[in-house]
This record gives sequence, structure tokens and C-alpha cells, in this order.
Amino acid sequence: MKAVVFHEHGGTDVLKYEEISEPTIGPKDVLFKVRALGMNRNDLWAREGLPGIKFPMPHISGSDAAGVIEQIGEAVEGFRVGDEILVHSWISCRSCQACTSGQEYFCREGKIWGFLTGPLDGAYAEYAKISYFNAIPKPENLSFAEAASISMVLLTVWHQLVSRAEIKPGEDVLIWGAGSGIGCVAIQVAKLFGARVIATAGTEEKLERACQMGADLALNHYTDDIVKRVKEFTGKKGVEVVFEHVGEATWERSVLSLAFGGRLVICGNTTGFEAKTDLRFVFNKQLSLLGSHQGNKAELLEGLKFVKQGLIKPVVWDTFPLMEAAQAQEMMYAGKHFGNIVLIP
Ligand SMILES: [Zn+2]
Repeated sequence: MKAVVFHEHGGTDVLKYEEISEPTIGPKDVLFKVRALGMNRNDLWAREGLPGIKFPMPHISGSDAAGVIEQIGEAVEGFRVGDEILVHSWISCRSCQACTSGQEYFCREGKIWGFLTGPLDGAYAEYAKISYFNAIPKPENLSFAEAASISMVLLTVWHQLVSRAEIKPGEDVLIWGAGSGIGCVAIQVAKLFGARVIATAGTEEKLERACQMGADLALNHYTDDIVKRVKEFTGKKGVEVVFEHVGEATWERSVLSLAFGGRLVICGNTTGFEAKTDLRFVFNKQLSLLGSHQGNKAELLEGLKFVKQGLIKPVVWDTFPLMEAAQAQEMMYAGKHFGNIVLIP
């Protein structure tokens, strides 16, 4: 089969479109034909390499995929050859205390499929294998490209806004980076829960799209005075929840935008991790700073209920043939996209 493989860390030129053998499945695995795969920031980080993390080589990236089952292991239950699936990418042992208490994201053996698995175990390929625990029936109302783009962003957002921040009707929520994969799902989840959404983006076109997705106010995070505009919009109150994933570049403004008793919930730091926090605001305003990472399968299934009803829609910005993975990753770096970029093997 064809796959996009890298043998060493580096720029997008280390991505090679190669002929390799199909994955061999274990008793609890399904082999599926990858019909579409969604790209994530993780794909770029794995290819570049991260300090302190050893990536199995040769490496195949890709944690979000949708496809059709071609073969099933003898211990697989609930799936048949021909079933259409999408992947829940968090792999865990499913037997430790964390896993059995619904906190699989704390599993000591936990890892993201297509990020830390391997060698040669990810979605940038014509075929892939996954444990049947990590296979989820594809919602019928989604195309393969849509299904491949929703899993990781929906899980991340659901855990972050619903489980960690406990978003409530009537609250005001500030969502940074509306054009990112998680940003456009976060707008939809916040609206689903009856919140008022202030979204930020870096271009006029993205601001318009954010409003189309349901944002009540869209602000340019480069040119607008975000804190001032948030205070104006909320009658000096500030927002109850800030949805953070940008980090260093936005953190101070996130803290200043919060209402008394507000919650700042963060799942990443694309601009850097050394942020400054004015502690006077944290204790005087009794703020909660909440970390969020991944989520459990039940949260993903819960979120997918609303995808099936059309209340949360995957946002596919563009699709590329798998062999053009390098160009697709360059598009991700350029940051002009709104939503997810998808590869088609
Ligand atoms: Zn475990």
C-alpha cells in the first residue's frame, strides 16, 4: 500500500510517499481502508520532533481517520467487514484505575494514535489498523472527509468546555482562534449550551465565518483591543469562560477578560508556554485556571449525538490527495485556513 512516511525529523521535505506493506492486525484490531484523514497540529510537531519525546521511526502520522473495515480480528465484537467507522484516537489500557473510572486520559499507557504509535502506525496511509475499542460507527449524515475531521477536535472541545469548564446557558464565552479546528467546533458547542460567544480571528474573512458559525461578536485578535471590547460587550462584567489554546500570546488578555469567579480553560499553547499571570486578579476575582487534555470515549460519543442531529457540523476547509501531504502541511503552517484540512488516500 501507499503511505506518507518520515524516517527522520525535519521540514515537510522529509515526508516520503512510499510503498510499504499493509498493517497486520491483532485479535482485537480492525483493518480499515482509509477513505479520508484529518490533519492536526500533532502531525507537524511529530515531524519536526519535540524535545524529550521519542517518536517511533519510521513514522506515519495521522490520528483522525474515517474508512471502511476490510478485516477483523477474531476477538472483535460489534463490527463487521464493510462497516464505516471513524477513529477515537486516544489509546489506553482500559484496565487500570484511571481507565476504569472514566479517566482514560490519565492512563499511564495512554497515547495518541498516529502521534506516538509506531513504527508505521497512523492514518497517512491507504490502510490502517486500530483496536475495535477505538473504532466508532461513522454517523451516516457525514461524508468520509467530514467524519475524518471531527473526532479529535470534538473530543478536545467537549472535554474542555462541557466537562472541565462546565459551561452553562446564559454565560459569556471568549473563544480564541475561531479559525482553528477546535475553534470552530468550540463556537458550535458553546452555542449548543446556550452561551453567548465572543470569537477572535486574524482576518476579516475568518471573522465573517465565525459569525456564520454562530458567534455573537467576532473580534480581530491582532487589531482589536480584546479586553476593552469584551468588557463593553458584557456590560463591564467580563466573560465567565475563556477557551484557551493559544498560550503565551493571549494568556494575559485571557485573565483580564474574565468576570469575577470566571474560569480559564486551556488545552494547548501554540504560541509558547511561558505566559505571565497577574496573581492579584486570580485571587481577588477568585478565578479558576483549568487544564484540559484529550477526553474519554463517552464524551466523544456524547458529542457525536449532536453531530448526528446536525447541531454540530464538521468544518472541512480543503482536501488534498494523500501524496500531497507536504503541501497540505504547508497550508496548515500558513494559517489561512478555517477549520480542518483533510487528506484523501
Ligand atoms: Zn489505563
